[in-house]
Amino acid sequence: MTMTRREMLQAMGLAAAATAISPGAALSKTMPNAPKGGLIKSDAHCHVVDFIQGSEGLKSLIGHMDQAGVAHCQIMGLPVTKKWDRIDRQPPTYYLDNDSRVYFYGSTDVDVARAYQALPASERGRLHPFLCGFNPTDQYAINHIRRMFDWFPDVWQGIGEIMLRHDDLTALTLGETATADHPALDPVYAFAARRNLPVQLHSNVGNKRLKEPVYLYEVENALAKHPETTIILAHAGVSRSFSIPTIAADIKGLMTRRPNLWIDLSWVVYEECVAPGGHVDERWIELVEEFPRRVMIGTDMIGHWADYATAIGKYYPFLAKLRPETAVGVASSNFMDLVGPKPSPTVTEPATGEPPMLQRLSLLSSDVVKA
Ligand SMILES: [Zn+2]
Repeated sequence: MTMTRREMLQAMGLAAAATAISPGAALSKTMPNAPKGGLIKSDAHCHVVDFIQGSEGLKSLIGHMDQAGVAHCQIMGLPVTKKWDRIDRQPPTYYLDNDSRVYFYGSTDVDVARAYQALPASERGRLHPFLCGFNPTDQYAINHIRRMFDWFPDVWQGIGEIMLRHDDLTALTLGETATADHPALDPVYAFAARRNLPVQLHSNVGNKRLKEPVYLYEVENALAKHPETTIILAHAGVSRSFSIPTIAADIKGLMTRRPNLWIDLSWVVYEECVAPGGHVDERWIELVEEFPRRVMIGTDMIGHWADYATAIGKYYPFLAKLRPETAVGVASSNFMDLVGPKPSPTVTEPATGEPPMLQRLSLLSSDVVKA
């Protein structure tokens, strides 16, 4: 049965989004715990573990979502984990706590999948797992993704947040610098396009010192080479301590040229660019109104939820400046357009050319799951 977009939204309790009426009361009716007059929101960027892979858990997350009026939430692990070095007396918990390195940690996806599967269906329906636990410079990265789909076929709704250029985090990550146009990601983008999955990237478009978006071309290369893949540029490509005066125009230009580009306004881009000092910058309003269906908000939490309501509530002044139907999209339905029910694609995966050992390992894994 094919559902129209309106029917899908109604089925998800987002009838107001389907009719594009004003946000607020109508939407809050669909969720009893929503703050009075508040929007029902989708959190499009949420890590359910921290940098040492710890977490307060999904049950607790659901409670905080209820309090914050968040109906739907993307969930993902963190693809890197922080090492506790011999010389460090104090165990680190955040990647910037000391100079020890981080390394890619594939089990993050297994943890997310198992925690998600343990929830009742009503709660699973509000969470949208993405997988991320691979090294994006490894040309075998696609094998991890295939393995995760083999082990947990009914779990994944997207790929990411893939950790690419990320200033201090890149400097602390062992190995090659990861970029959006690295050849290791070509089969990942192709896999995502075949299965209609969004791919979320953390890929800084500039750096802390230069005032131009010197790495924007890397993201554009990926978008141009994979026009069938929906790519979400997390934080609109912005990172800590950026000072690129043209950033809103740069991102607007990229979105104009590349219709497969979406952005989320999670993390520091909000405080540093969109609403510095609490004053919403008109250039970002113009950008969002130009692409009202391709912008999302997110908390960028990492496994601990005390600040959850604050992290979602910070968007209210910004949402209030948007046209009502734009606000509904940005706060809620744009994310659901990416992860909501879709006709299941008939996927025929191309021959992998993997070494025989890897093929044997993945056969073994299927047997274990079936047993
Ligand atoms: Zn993130």
